[in-house]
Amino acid sequence: MAVQKVNMKRTLAEVLLVLALAGAAAFGWLNLQKGNLANSNVTALEGKVKATEHLLQDSVEEGEITELALDLMSEELVQLRGKALQLDAVKAALANGPLLQDVELFYKLQKSLSVERQLGLGALRMLTKGGDDPSVTEAFQKALQMADWNGRKNTICAAQIGLAAAGGNVKVMSECAIQPPNAQDGGNGDGHQAPGGGHENAHDKGGASAHAGPHWGYEGAMGPERWGSEFPTCGKGQSQAPLNIKGPFVKGRISVAADYKVGPLRMLNNGHTVQVNVAAGSKLRIDGVPYELLQYHFHRPSEEQIDGKPMAMVIHFVHKSAAGKLAVLGVLLKEGNENPGIKTLWNHAPSAEGPEVAPEEVVFNPSNLLPKEFDFYSYEGSLTTPPCTEGVRFFILKTPVNVSREQVIGFPFKRNARPVQPLNDRVITVG
Ligand SMILES: [Zn+2]
Repeated sequence: MAVQKVNMKRTLAEVLLVLALAGAAAFGWLNLQKGNLANSNVTALEGKVKATEHLLQDSVEEGEITELALDLMSEELVQLRGKALQLDAVKAALANGPLLQDVELFYKLQKSLSVERQLGLGALRMLTKGGDDPSVTEAFQKALQMADWNGRKNTICAAQIGLAAAGGNVKVMSECAIQPPNAQDGGNGDGHQAPGGGHENAHDKGGASAHAGPHWGYEGAMGPERWGSEFPTCGKGQSQAPLNIKGPFVKGRISVAADYKVGPLRMLNNGHTVQVNVAAGSKLRIDGVPYELLQYHFHRPSEEQIDGKPMAMVIHFVHKSAAGKLAVLGVLLKEGNENPGIKTLWNHAPSAEGPEVAPEEVVFNPSNLLPKEFDFYSYEGSLTTPPCTEGVRFFILKTPVNVSREQVIGFPFKRNARPVQPLNDRVITVG
């Protein structure tokens, strides 16, 4: 029975935390942009909800407003109400000291903690103890470092924005910018928030000042050589990607097969690449284990080199297994005939950074971008963009597909490739 009670408390804590982070993120973003702290704006918001409600009732009674205006106001009311509820959860999480102790106690009994839980615990500590305690801040930053960027981006962003809005000394990465004012996100975990155009960096506790400018890029002061100062794994990691692929190779016995499905086209320009987000159901099977295709994106030139030479471009198909392991399938593009699949994509790809677009009635099957032959080079690597998290398995197909020169030029990024990284003690297998 005691175990059950602890479990319930933990579940409650985790649910509260998720609510708190989501609520704080939704609010925090708007407030950070105005240079405010989210918590101080709750009262004002609650007042607005009430005022809107009254206005709505009065207007209906007096029969003065059109149906359209009524609809608009109802919509606003629902949104405001939802946000107010979320912020109540933030307040509850902040006020409840014993909650943190319960969670810490439970986690202490676990042999190892998932990255999500470490992240959650770090965030809860920050929410409870505030961002002033350096050890608390450091632990949270470490958890962020370990977190797998693609799959957990929403959690990470929610935590960062929420904590910054609450006055914590946390940097909010540019990828976390959400579309104000009403970016609704179902929370399906593959990062749909659209970058707003520059990171928000709240480093003074009183005023949460905001600076424009991204955290990383492909040249200059924020180029790949500097990534390590903000994202330690990028500098210190020993299994980083991309690689210069050259022999000697080891013969491998891994079987890889793509099972991609047609689905609605959803894509965005995130300021670093053009990315196509994929609906659930498309899979890569690695030795029979299914890895869900989350998204694919492009680099120009190819990040991988074959015998020291890059190709015109590469497509990275990013997959994740149920166990949370990441696998990237790389398809090299060499200059030649026009690629009909890319033609469709480029027709809809946003040329400037912005939110996800979903052109109506356009469907696409990512398998249109694959070559027939599936021989590959394979190695252990990392995300090739900050935070450069390791533990990513790469499969680079030996057979390139064509892309025309015009299509290469039509890609909105002139250069978005990280330089090749040291092989260290890794081996490249062929299969
Ligand atoms: Zn990539």
